[in-house]
Amino acid sequence: MKKWIILLCIALISSVIVPMSHVSANTNFKDVGASHRAAAEISYLVNKNIINGVTPTEFVPDREVTRGEAAAMLGRSLGLNGQKRATSFKDVAAGNMASGYIVELVNKKVISGYGDGTFRPNAKLDRGEMAILINRAYTLGGTNSSDSAKILMDKGIAQGMADGSFGGNVTIIRSDFAVFLARTINADFRVKTGDTSIFKTTQYVSVGSSTLNIRSKPQVVNSPSNVIGKLSHGQMVSVASYTGNWAYIKAGNLIGYVDKSYLKSAKPAAVLPAPPPAAGKDLTIIIDPGHGGTDPGASGFGFLEKNVALNVSNHMKSYFDKTPIQVVMTRTGDTYPSLTQRAEFAKKYGGDMFVSIHTNAFNNSVNGQESFYYGSTSATNPYVTQSKVLSIYMQARMQEAWPLVNRGVKQGNLAVLRQNTVPATLIEMGFIDSDVDIKYIRSDAHRKNMGRALYLASLDFYYHYHGRTDLGQYYSIAGSSPSKRLH
Ligand SMILES: [Zn+2]
Repeated sequence: MKKWIILLCIALISSVIVPMSHVSANTNFKDVGASHRAAAEISYLVNKNIINGVTPTEFVPDREVTRGEAAAMLGRSLGLNGQKRATSFKDVAAGNMASGYIVELVNKKVISGYGDGTFRPNAKLDRGEMAILINRAYTLGGTNSSDSAKILMDKGIAQGMADGSFGGNVTIIRSDFAVFLARTINADFRVKTGDTSIFKTTQYVSVGSSTLNIRSKPQVVNSPSNVIGKLSHGQMVSVASYTGNWAYIKAGNLIGYVDKSYLKSAKPAAVLPAPPPAAGKDLTIIIDPGHGGTDPGASGFGFLEKNVALNVSNHMKSYFDKTPIQVVMTRTGDTYPSLTQRAEFAKKYGGDMFVSIHTNAFNNSVNGQESFYYGSTSATNPYVTQSKVLSIYMQARMQEAWPLVNRGVKQGNLAVLRQNTVPATLIEMGFIDSDVDIKYIRSDAHRKNMGRALYLASLDFYYHYHGRTDLGQYYSIAGSSPSKRLH
């Protein structure tokens, strides 16, 4: 894996034009020919006696750099006194070729040893350590490996790996070290990140909702191994040249090849966003806040049933408002539609389900929650089973929201249920005159939670009774999920 990354990195570096006119590659190394990607930098450093060959005729450009070698090369580049001498490290003898530079660099706080008193001169140096060393040696400002790496990249001293990262854990080889050191010392070697002189032609990516691979080389046979980046629809690229079906492009900091058939000279129209979810658009929920106007309903502790019912209804509706499911309320203010008018709402507004919302009262002697359905087929409403199932889910979610006494699901001969034309339930959320239940009824947070419960119960009914799993996506709006099947 490491080797693969290094190879790609080399491919990337070699694709960048580095000015060479000011220096000629005139070393005697038989393994660094004039066309070697680092020939100019190696020659420059050799001529300055900063870097040496491993032998007079071999540079060994791919050999990994050790900490000792790095210290010597950095020390020479800074003009430090490299005279061999004793060090404070037990593993760096006075005779070590880098001992003088190590002492000097430690004094300048460029490099340090380890807690166990060693320097580990033969340990391999990685790119992250190199970034820190160069930053400290040339006071570029970086204090840790990631900001040091960023500074080197920003200055055109180093480039990232093919995968876009800096590759801080990748061991650095001699030729790369030479390139980075030469660019540090002499700005003429630096990569001009803003220089797009060969990438002249502006083109736009046109791939719809797909993505376009940037490859390190023109590739006819599909090989995922050379993908170095991805472009999305509408992104701008600069093209240098074409090779067959491939365009040689620059996009941001990435340089590589893309299939030219996905490039257009005019910016393509934006891809239309996916249509909004339509699940549940066919459903209309009728919410009936009990009582209202001249009919306050029950009362207790200064609270009126009509106000509590309307408030919970509004909370319930607010959840549906985040979905395509329609809601119609029998009243939205302090008015009193008649029971017959309420029952006719579903028919009038194409409703599919009816929930009448109430609180109970019984002289502070009873408490708890109950749900009612009309237990036999009426003149207008054949939905006995559905109404019962709806009541079951309402009761369960009410219990979940407010843990009050469970008075159960019951049959009730109530006009708004009997006269209705759709599955209908009437819920009693609690006893408004009960000193137990009022603790929930009086709290807006609890009332909101009850509205949420009634929303979820409505989803549960469609989800389980009608198999409407398409509505499953709307539970997350209330941070919930479908209930257990309860019928
Ligand atoms: Zn009531």
